Amino acid sequence: MTSGGAPLFDRIAILGIGLIGSSLARAIKREGLAGTLVAGDTGPGVAARALALGIVDEATEDLVTAVADADLVVLCAPVGAGGAIAETIGPALKPGCIVSDVGSIKERVIAMIAPHLPEGVHLIPGHPVAGTEKSGPESGFAELFQGRWCILTPPPGADPDALDRVAEMWRRAGMIIEVMEAAHHDRVLAITSHLPHLIAYTIVGTASDLEEHLHREVIKFSASGFRDFTRIAGSDPIMWRDIFVNNQEAVLDILQRFTEDLTALQRAIRRGEGETLEALFTKTRAVRQAVIDAKQA
Ligand code: NAP
Repeated sequence: MTSGGAPLFDRIAILGIGLIGSSLARAIKREGLAGTLVAGDTGPGVAARALALGIVDEATEDLVTAVADADLVVLCAPVGAGGAIAETIGPALKPGCIVSDVGSIKERVIAMIAPHLPEGVHLIPGHPVAGTEKSGPESGFAELFQGRWCILTPPPGADPDALDRVAEMWRRAGMIIEVMEAAHHDRVLAITSHLPHLIAYTIVGTASDLEEHLHREVIKFSASGFRDFTRIAGSDPIMWRDIFVNNQEAVLDILQRFTEDLTALQRAIRRGEGETLEALFTKTRAVRQAVIDAKQA
């Protein structure tokens, strides 16, 4: 609590104390949401670094130790690790414990985690739609979540009280809450996040394949659009590998549509159809303005 009252949870364990985990830890500390805040991270030396930063009360490389007696466990490791983590910690979770996560995809993650949770443990998956291209506990900051959306995807029959408590944590971290089905989340994010990353990886990959001379020019004159693409394409390789491998269907579907639109644009350029291009660019400029108006720029 910010002033006076009891914390929202007696003991919170954050597993994976990288960019998102450490940002959440900082927000939890700022708001006083945990009696005790524990970090569990299997990365060599990562837990010790988090402790040294003063963003958690306790830190360990042993995930079973981290979750002991926890009321809330938030999985903040790359999504591909979710199943193995749940299998490791499942038997150590206390009855009534809430397990949540921050993974960028939801349907597959739920399928990986849920089977390992004992009866009486509540699963409330989440995705704070906020981030940067950086990694590690040093790169986090509490304000990361301010004014951004947090999507919660409780499975059918999820405990309403557990949902309220997880929502309240993210609200106190500064986020606006939206609840939706996991499959819907994955389709929405395929277009707003996954496809843009795939395009950035492709453009920067194409540029780096160019002959050495031209490549140097690309870096040198990167002040135009290319620079923005390099920022996105600089995102964590493990995290994005896991996202594409685990959200195959939705990404491939959106990619099919994108390819069709790109082909239509290609034809318009070849035919010199200026009005077609201008009409599209006018429409996309309005989309940009809408993003600014929604304070999500
Ligand atoms: P990150 O900075 O790389 O942090 C992940 C941390 O988890 C690292 O310290 C990593 O250690 C540790 N880790 C790896 N495997 C583990 C395991 N089996 N058990 C415990 N810890 C483990 O990544 P991040 O950007 O915070 O992303 C974490 C999650 O947030 C992902 O699920 C991602 O989908 C989601 N997310 C990310 C963003 C974003 O913009 N970055 C936004 C929203 C949601 P090592 O580094 O030593 O491997």
